[in-house]
Order: sequence, then structure tokens, then C-alpha cells
Amino acid sequence: MGPDKSPGPDGVTPRFLQQNWNVIGLDLVTKIRKIFHTGQIPQDWLKCNVVLIPKGPEPETPKEYRPISLGNVTYRLIMKIWAARLRPHMKYLISREQAAFLEGRNISDNVLLVKEVINSFNQKIFKQQGFMLKADIAKAFDKLEWNFIIQACRHVNIPEHLITMLTSAYSNTKIKILINGSGDGFIKPTRGLRQGCPMSPYIFILAMEMLSRIFHISMQNKVFQGLKLAATAPYLNHIMYADDLIVLGTADIGEIQRLKQIFKCFGGAGGLEVNPTKSKLWFTKACQEGTKEMVKTELQAQLANKDEKYLGAFVMSKGGAKRTANMLIDRMWEKFAGWKCAMLSHAGRLVLIKSVLTSLPVYYMSTERLPRGELNKMSSLIAKFFWGKIDRTRYLTFISWKSVCKPIEEGGLGVRELSQFGDALFLKNAWEMMRQGDKLWVQVCQAKYYPKIGFWRAKNTNGASSLWREVVKVRHRLQEDVTWELNNGGCVQALSQPWFANWEVQNDYNPRESVKKVSELLHPVTGLWNMEELQRLFGMEKATIIQAQIKPPDPTNDAQDSLIWHKSRTDKYSVKEGYRQLSLLEQQRIPTPRNIGVQWAVINGWKFIVPKVKLFLWRMLSGALPIANNLHRRITTISPLCQRCGQENEYEEHCFFFCPGSRRVWFQGQLGLRTHDQFLDIIQAFTQTTSLLDEDGIKLFSYTLWELWKGRNEVVMQHKRFDPTKITRAVNNWMRGDVLERQQSQDHQQLLKIPGYEVSKEDWQLVVDASWQQSGEAGMAYLLYELGNVSEWSFNYCAAHDPFHAEALAMLSGLKTIVHRVHENQGKKVDVFSDCQNLVLAVTEMNAEDIPSWKARPVVQELINLYKSCAKIIRVRYVKRDAVKPAHILANHARRAKQAKAGNATSCNLVLEMGIGLEIDKNFFEIT
Ligand SMILES: [Zn+2]
Repeated sequence: MGPDKSPGPDGVTPRFLQQNWNVIGLDLVTKIRKIFHTGQIPQDWLKCNVVLIPKGPEPETPKEYRPISLGNVTYRLIMKIWAARLRPHMKYLISREQAAFLEGRNISDNVLLVKEVINSFNQKIFKQQGFMLKADIAKAFDKLEWNFIIQACRHVNIPEHLITMLTSAYSNTKIKILINGSGDGFIKPTRGLRQGCPMSPYIFILAMEMLSRIFHISMQNKVFQGLKLAATAPYLNHIMYADDLIVLGTADIGEIQRLKQIFKCFGGAGGLEVNPTKSKLWFTKACQEGTKEMVKTELQAQLANKDEKYLGAFVMSKGGAKRTANMLIDRMWEKFAGWKCAMLSHAGRLVLIKSVLTSLPVYYMSTERLPRGELNKMSSLIAKFFWGKIDRTRYLTFISWKSVCKPIEEGGLGVRELSQFGDALFLKNAWEMMRQGDKLWVQVCQAKYYPKIGFWRAKNTNGASSLWREVVKVRHRLQEDVTWELNNGGCVQALSQPWFANWEVQNDYNPRESVKKVSELLHPVTGLWNMEELQRLFGMEKATIIQAQIKPPDPTNDAQDSLIWHKSRTDKYSVKEGYRQLSLLEQQRIPTPRNIGVQWAVINGWKFIVPKVKLFLWRMLSGALPIANNLHRRITTISPLCQRCGQENEYEEHCFFFCPGSRRVWFQGQLGLRTHDQFLDIIQAFTQTTSLLDEDGIKLFSYTLWELWKGRNEVVMQHKRFDPTKITRAVNNWMRGDVLERQQSQDHQQLLKIPGYEVSKEDWQLVVDASWQQSGEAGMAYLLYELGNVSEWSFNYCAAHDPFHAEALAMLSGLKTIVHRVHENQGKKVDVFSDCQNLVLAVTEMNAEDIPSWKARPVVQELINLYKSCAKIIRVRYVKRDAVKPAHILANHARRAKQAKAGNATSCNLVLEMGIGLEIDKNFFEIT
């Protein structure tokens, strides 16, 4: 559970339980166990707040509010546990006509099925007079009768003690409606499901399952049999997605009467009514007008028009794809209008592209192949948005959208390429057909398009649905990578399904043999391959290969044969992996102007660089920045000359490193880099340099590039003067922000954890630390924080006898400096932090005797004297090591480099970062 989810009436949040789990965890677990045994949930746990969230800006009636119910966390816990345990069993309890909330079933399964139905309805060869009704069930979730729910649970054999628990949960629930944060008295609901309860979706489909069972029985007893879309297809009389109900039947008065009876019977028991005015009807082509009228009047439903949607998707057979695409394009424009595009950075836009724009079409593309032209329109719209040109004008980019869509490790940004993603989604449909699962739409398609000759040999037929037409187009992409793995050999058709390497679609066999199973190719006595038969069917060569490579199946084995996709580790086709494979193939076709894949993958992994700067680095490295030289290549009338110095063409290397102003920035910056003259290209320059830097060095380097770019743009766009000092200052600000952030998080995480202690903004903090080596060399350092920022720092090196000695020296040097400053600033107090516990004890208890180092005794004595003289303004505190890390870095550096330095706020960051700079020497850059 998310720790910050809203609490219920008892006010307990998930975070409270999580953080205090060691105290209350065991009790809670025991209590919940008991509840599961007895089925009695304490009444207090069942109380529930309902808050009203306005749907629009100025709501006036209750209908304009959306009620959100907030149950107690403990109650949600119980139901979550139950839901998690029930989940794996649900698919055995619920008929396959229901697709909602179940593992392995998908909303698109229903859309595909309904489209196949409508496709058949429109065929002249479909001779039956049939109808399809899309029924609207009004407020199904809120109207379910509890008694009915309980009956439904009994019907699917939910254990009695759990049913008791459910009854107690429903009959004892009390709701308080909160208005402006407070409410008065509780309401007792009498029906409907608890909103926000993890079990509610399951309970709902269990209740709807009762309707399914009525339909099944009606089908078996031929009371309401439904329709068959092809000779070998299963009968269909209903399809469900949660409360979305589709009914199929013969347009016949008796059948309609019996359907009405079914609705009445279910409505009476469950409390759910079909809302006729919102229900829609489709008829088969063979249906006569009079019959249609009869059905319409009897069911009081409207005829579906061409725009009718099912589960949000257009389901008419002609032109649906184009309409879907146009609807998506309109939605994208709506999104753009809602976002302040001009205010977003490239990184912000990228997030929106990945999370919103490229996800919009996914649902629709899984049931419909959108026309290529429309997909291109969408892609170019997204591209425009990315490059910040969201109007209808032309614009200039330096890299193709296809390159942007490449995976990160190929140098792209990993944006979904829509047409390829559409292919990957459709391959999923092809895969489902290949593996012949028990999905209804797969069985219907099989009966309609390949009842005998098998999936691989079947061709496009006149009047086939768009699903089948597109699957025929894409299926070859999977052919090489799928094989059936034999277990009992009982479901694989020997001639029409791949089950050995180099299997090919054969067209020249006797159709009567197409149903022959692999298990029939075995010798009846030995159980080994029947070579004669193999040779007859596949020829000598292949028969030998089969005999050598394929283990004969065991027909007595219970395990079914399974289809394997070799490209995935899970053996099953997945859209994600399928898309990856497709884009890898595509890679070879996209020319790559610059190969930045390796480098970009590294940059992308830098958590310490802000996204907008990362994305700038990507643009710089991939040649997407509008610098003069790049512009000139596209539009020759633009001068390629650098506008800052006018001496050379502005290519990336010049812009960022060699233009005299840029050189100065590097030279005077914290890295103190001097740019070489002989040098390769921007990518190599970047790679080599950053490979020598540590985290902080990389930050300096990256932020300097970013600020250089901003400075350069001010010259070009606003005709300002190029000011290297301003850039250096801006980079320092970046770094200071970083140091501050780090320090704050440390302050908060480490310092604040000392019981009874809080960092006060008014007071000062002194952090001291030492670094010591066996050789007796030591470094020591302190940092003074005022108002949360470093105001003074110092590091020095010296000799020390042992680590304790070094720590004592460090604290002394810090205290000495501070004491007089504190005296000058009346009223200030200083907290001194050290990670040496013995030292803190010795000073605060004013005892120099029991210390681990006799050499340090005089130093500790001096510390004690100082402490005594100003005990009112100095507090010495022990903190964990992480809290003194900045001082530790400085002390380490002082020891290793044998250096001493001191300074104030402005130079602080420089010092903190310098551990890095000194370790780089010759290479592409020189350190001065
Ligand atoms: Zn220049």
C-alpha cells in the first residue's frame, strides 16, 4: 500500500503502520488471522468516510460531485489479502465470456470478438436472421443486492467463513459523508458494493457470473441458444466486460421473449436492470425489415448507427481505422491545448510524450491497424511537440524522428515508434491465434478463416475482417521464431504447424491429412518415430532430421504441447519484447549520422544530473543543436560563422570548447581545464573527459556545457555580450544547489535523527572530521554552517599518533576558530558535530583520563578547557559518519595532497569538488 494513501475514519495511514510495524505488526497479524477464522470484522474497522470531489469548477447539485470513499486501512488490508488469495483462482470460477479484472484476459479480447461478430453480420453468406444487443445496465455497481452477492459467492463455493466475513462487512458498514472536511452521523447503506474496496471488482464479476450461468444454461437447453458465426465456431449468446453486456440471438419472437425473461429473472434477484433507452442493436444482413422492427419494439432498443463504439473503440467494419486515428489526433491537439508547451523543457516534453502521447493509441492499436498515413501524422505531431514547434508551420530539425525513437542504447530516446509498435501489438494477436488458446475470438477466427487447413496456410478471403487481413500480413515475422514444444503431441497438427527446425508451410498435401496430429506419427508398438510415415509426409531429409533431433512425444503424458517464441526468455510472445525485436531490425535500415549509443546510455544513467541537462547533452552529442554550422548545412543562406568570435565556423567543438570565450570559461572554472588544440570530435571529447571524472566532476563538466549553451544563446538571440564570469557563477550556483541539497538531506536524515535535537536555523553548526593513515599522516577539516549554508571552511594536514589523536586535533582547530567568532556574535550558539564518540564523551563529561590515546591527552585537555569557558554557547554532539561527510572529504584530500587551505562561502563548493579535479592529468584536457 502506498504509505501516503488517505486514512479512513480512524486516521491511521499506511505509513503509520509501516513505520511502527515492529511495535504493532505482530498484534495486527494475529488479529487479522483471527478475523479470517471467525469472519467477524470489528465494527469500528468498517466505518468509512466519503468525500465529495467536485467534477467541474462550480458544482451545484449532488450529481456534480464524485464521491470517493475512504475506508480504514485495516479493513483495506483484510480485503487486499483476500483479493490476492482469490486472484489466481478467479479464472476458474468465471466464464470466458467475461474479460474484466482477470489475469490473462483482456479488454481487447472482447473488442476483437465483437468486431468479428459485426463483420459476419455484414456478410451476405451469413444467412441467419440474427441480432446483437449492446445492453446498458444502469448503475450496476451501486445497485447490486447483498443477498444476491452472498448467493453468488455460495454458488461458486466460496468457503462459508469468508461469506460470513463478507456479510458482516456489508451489514455493519457505516458511512460518514464529509463536507468541508467534517461530517455528522453515519449512514447505513443497504445495497451496492463498497467503492475502493480491493474485493469489490471480484465480487462484482462473481455476481455477473450468475448472469453468465443463466445464459449458459439457456444455451444448453436451447432456450436462448445464441448464434454461431461459422460451422465449427462455438455458439455465442453473450459477451461481458464487467457490466458491459452484449447479447447475441436469433431474431425470432420466441427467442426475444425468453431473453426478456432472462433479464427479468436476473434483475429481480440481483437488483440490476437493463436500461432499454441506452441499449443498441445490430442485425445481420439476412434480417428482414419487419423482423428488425419487431426486435426493436420488443427490446425497446435503438438501432446502432455507424459511429457506435464498444468499450471505447469504433466497431463498424468500414473506415473504423481512419476514424479512430482522427479521433486520436484530435485528442492529441486537446492535450497540447491543455499543456503550456512553450514553458516545458525538452525533458518535460519527453516525459509527456512517453507517458501520455504514445500511450494514447495503444489500446486502439491492439485491435485495429491504423492507416500508415494517419500514423505518420501522429508521429510528426509528437515530433513537433518534442521540438517545441506546436503550430501548423514548418520547422527544422537536425535528426529524424525515427532516430529519436531508437532505444537508449542505440543513441535514441526510447520513444515508441507508433507504426512499429502497432506491428508488435498485432503480432500479439497473431501469436494468440497460433497458440490456439481458449479465447473466444481465436476460436471464432479459426472457424471463420482456417477451419481445416491450419493457421499458416490460410489466406486472405473476400470479406475477411481487418483483424484477419492484418494478421495474414504480419504473421511471417514470427514464423522463424516459433515452434511447438511437444509433450503428448496431441494438439499439434503435423503438417500445418511448426514443430521442428526449418519447418515450412507446405501447400501440396492432401487436405484430409491436415488434421493428422504429431502423436499419430509414432510406431504403435515401440512408441518411437514411424520413419515410413515421416518420410512419406516430409521426405527423406527432413524425416532424418526429425528422427535425430526431436524426442518422440509421449501420448500418455498429461502435459499439453506448448508454443514457444524463441526470442523471449519467458518463451511467450510479449509486445514489449516484440517491439524491441522489430526496432532492432529497423535499426539496420536507419542511417546513423553519429553513433552515440554507448555514451548516451552512460549519460542516461547519471542520476545526479537533472533531466533537462541530460537531454541537452543528448542534443549536443547527436548533433541536434541549432548551431550555425548545423543550420548552414540545411539552409545555405545562413552563415556558418560563429557569432561570438566571427573567426571560425560554429561547429559543436568550436562552440563549446575553442571559441575564445568558451576557453576562458573552462580555464577559470572549477575544473581549471585547458583545451587542447588537436582533438577529435565532440563525442570523443565528452567521453574521454567524463570517463576521468567522478560524480562531482561530471556535474561541473555537464553544467558548464549547459551554461555555455545558454550564454551562447543570449549572444545570438538577444545580442548580449558573452560573459564568461557570469557563466562560471551560474555553474557554481548549480553546484552550490547540489551541495546544499545533499547537505540538507544529510541534515535531515542524519542530524535530525539525534533524539531531542533539531537543527536550528538561528544557530550555527560546526562539522569536524579527521583522516588518518598508519604512516602517521593526518588530515583535518572543519566546515561552519550558518543558516544552513557553509560560511567558513578549512583543511590542514599534520602528524598524529592515532585516529583518536587526529580527531581531537581536528576538533580543536575547529573550535579555536569558532569560539572568538561566536563571542563576536552575541546570542549565537554552536553545535559541534563529530563522528568520534569517545572524543565527544571525553569533552562533554570533561574527563581526559579514560581516552583511548595517551598522546591525545593534552589536546583533549585543551578542548575541555575551551568547552568549559563557553559551555553555554557550545554543544558538542556525536553524529553518524555520513553527517560529517563534507568534512571527511576535505580531510582526506588534505592528508593525501598534503595541502592546507581555508576560505569562505564563495569558495566552499570549489573545495568540496576539488578532490576530483586533481586526479585528472594529461589527456584530452590539462589541469592547470
Ligand atoms: Zn567563436
